[in-house]
Amino acid sequence: MTSDAGFDVDVLVVGLGPAGASAAAAAAEKGLSVLAIERNAEPGLPVQCAEFVPMMIGMQLPEMGDSRVQAISEMQTFIGGEEAVVTPDFRGYMVDRARFDQYLIAQAQKAGAQCRFATSLRGLDANGMATIGDGETVKAKLVIGADGPRSRVGEAIGAVNTELVETRQITLDLTDPHAATDIFLNAEIVGGYAWLFPRGDVCNLGLGVTAEHKARLKPLLDALHAQLVAEGRVGETIIRHTGGLIPVGGLVGPAGMLGETAVLLAGDAAGLTNPVTGAGIPSAVMSGKSAGVAAAGFVAGDADAPGDYAEELDDIFGPSLALALSRRREILDTYRQGGLPDKGDMRKSWIAFPQYWKKDAAGIPLSQTGQTLEATQAI
Ligand SMILES: Cc1cc2nc3c(=O)[nH]c(=O)nc-3n(C[C@H](O)[C@H](O)[C@H](O)COP(=O)(O)OP(=O)(O)OC[C@H]3O[C@@H](n4cnc5c(N)ncnc54)[C@H](O)[C@@H]3O)c2cc1C
Repeated sequence: MTSDAGFDVDVLVVGLGPAGASAAAAAAEKGLSVLAIERNAEPGLPVQCAEFVPMMIGMQLPEMGDSRVQAISEMQTFIGGEEAVVTPDFRGYMVDRARFDQYLIAQAQKAGAQCRFATSLRGLDANGMATIGDGETVKAKLVIGADGPRSRVGEAIGAVNTELVETRQITLDLTDPHAATDIFLNAEIVGGYAWLFPRGDVCNLGLGVTAEHKARLKPLLDALHAQLVAEGRVGETIIRHTGGLIPVGGLVGPAGMLGETAVLLAGDAAGLTNPVTGAGIPSAVMSGKSAGVAAAGFVAGDADAPGDYAEELDDIFGPSLALALSRRREILDTYRQGGLPDKGDMRKSWIAFPQYWKKDAAGIPLSQTGQTLEATQAI
């Protein structure tokens, strides 16, 4: 595994979700020696996702292996008991997330990355020395932190996601085929929303709320489940449960140094999930690829590569993250002031409505960038 004297490997990638697998593939394709570690024992499992990816993911991933389950053509948004507001042409795919991640990991392995499972990052010291698995130490020229919302790599460079949404999701039988992502907005779902995403003859039904309202998840999900059973849309039996954290505070890091070792964060570790929709798969893939390419630049002697990577992420994701963050803050302020958001507030806080897109965080009319990113980032 030795590349140059003093270093065991060019790049250590921590986490093999979409960001880490994409980073490992890109770095290995550039000829770097790559060790990628994943704490889970099996690639892609357990799944903690609602499994929707927008059509535009095809720009980064023309192939997705056999992970596509069904096509999505539109989004339906329900506010309170009102009729659905239909957003036509909201195209994408429901994927089998385990197969999706497995496909990306296989690409990394094919490119020459060494991928180890059931192997956690235990520590990363101020000199960039990593301790992994049972105590083995690894010295890399560059470490890519793709280890999700509570990134240990991020912690090592002082870049931590502080705002997180808690989620709960169940998988149920779906009575009739459905080609829309359904979104349920309701003042009780503080700092989040509920979703029904169809997946062939089953569906993922879930919701997310601010961490302090975690206790609401179960009763709210039980109530929505009961309502949809009564409407004849879904089955009573719960096939699977999942959940997980979603970072919603915007970009953190994403570049730093530990001694001579450069550190880059990608995907959820860098806070790239959209603070309103919670969507993070496309940005994880995109940032992972960019981190892998930046790693190659750094290893080849370009000391500016980490800073350029940070700038690139800010250019690509900055406007849509800033807009989503300001909408999220506005609706949370309503609760903080002791009120409840009304339907107008909820429309302003959801991507289906023109009110959402009117202005950016600084009050400037939104540019094309924001509209483009709507498609790449929205659930
Ligand atoms: C319930 C739920 C539903 C969602 N639905 C959608 C959706 O429909 N569409 C969408 O686009 N996004 C969705 N998201 C968000 C999406 O799942 C994430 O944005 C995406 O997985 C980010 O990819 P990532 O590679 O950055 O992180 P992850 O996929 O979280 O991968 C990080 C990996 O790092 C590993 N790891 C962590 N710590 C260590 C360690 N110390 N050592 C070794 N390995 C470690 C973890 O085991 C994990 O495999 C959802 C999230 C949740 C929680």
